[in-house]
Amino acid sequence: MDKNISLTLVGNNPKPAKIHHLVKAPANTPWAREKQQSWDANKPATVYVTPETLPDGTPCSAVTVILRTKGCHWWWSSGCTFCGYFNDTRDDVTNENLHSQWELAKQQHDNFAGQSMVKIYTSGSLLEDREIPIQFQETVLRECHELGKELIVESRCEQLTEEKLSWATSINPSFTVAIGLEAYDDEVLRFHVNKGFTTKSWDRAVVNLRKFNLRIKTYLMFKPPFMSEKDALDHGVRWIKDVAGRSDEISVNPMNIQRGTVIDRLHRHNEYRPPWLWSLVEMIKQAHPHIYPDGGVNGSPDQVCRLIVHPTAGGKIRGAHNCGSCDKFVVAAIERYAVSGDLREFDGLSCECESVWREELALESALPLPLGISQPRRGNRIENLRSL
Ligand code: SF4
Ligand SMILES: [Zn+2]
Repeated sequence: MDKNISLTLVGNNPKPAKIHHLVKAPANTPWAREKQQSWDANKPATVYVTPETLPDGTPCSAVTVILRTKGCHWWWSSGCTFCGYFNDTRDDVTNENLHSQWELAKQQHDNFAGQSMVKIYTSGSLLEDREIPIQFQETVLRECHELGKELIVESRCEQLTEEKLSWATSINPSFTVAIGLEAYDDEVLRFHVNKGFTTKSWDRAVVNLRKFNLRIKTYLMFKPPFMSEKDALDHGVRWIKDVAGRSDEISVNPMNIQRGTVIDRLHRHNEYRPPWLWSLVEMIKQAHPHIYPDGGVNGSPDQVCRLIVHPTAGGKIRGAHNCGSCDKFVVAAIERYAVSGDLREFDGLSCECESVWREELALESALPLPLGISQPRRGNRIENLRSL
């Protein structure tokens, strides 16, 4: 018998392919491998400047540096169901490469002279030694402190031990750690997101971060895979309530479909619709009293934490969307709310599609439909229903 079994997606490997390779086959396809090797390891993936707000509420300019890294160690062994960061990584990036990227980012922006805030994103965790050489972690922490910049880094929970934070704060005593918690619910973390950590590890990380007076930004995912729109809404509000008191900032990321991921497959098979923008408006309205118990707005004394909702690819088929004609107005109102914290941003917003969305939520509450009935805005609706 011929032992060289040809596998269309993973190539002709004399060794048997692991199930891991098959399940995540798109990341191992020739196009993905080729793309990864095409990146210049001495250049950062992207550097851009955006308006931001300092912890005390002062408006400022922030520079975001997205570095080309080896990616996330959780992805190497498994990976979250929606994470497409592997598309932007190279598995051979060295300490020298990272230092060149950092120097280039500083050169491009005059040593960040015009920016008070620096966000460093590494498609993983900056404080994880297996992903980022310790010398480079130190460079970023030290230089941002010396330059007097408000630093934001991203991390999973398991790196945020007392030992690591004690080391990091001895170099930079004040920075923000953004954690991709996604859901404050162990079942969702395990079966919908495949996050590889539990709510308990987030609880522990938060205690440690507080001990070292570091700021906490919590990312939540709106509508993970295998979830109906109605469940996403109910869960979303609950998770915001659960983490608000222990976060300085909550950033809700409505699902956007990234190439080569599990959610990409579901979406292509018409088995998943990214969230409605109306659901995000409704989530904000229901969560608002948990953020401002006395009915305040951004900066009011009753504010528990900052709530930001940023619909990446909002209005597009692969991002949170409505019917196509009202999308840009709803996205703009959601983005205005992130700055003002004022529910009046949504006054006067309406569209015919709102009744379709309401009907879907009502049906999903009344019928046993764990995966929901929402259909994406693409293709012919009747044809889509026939193919179910
Ligand atoms: S932990 Fe973050 S970077 Fe790693 S696979 Fe999950 S979403 Fe991607
Ligand atoms: Zn509409």
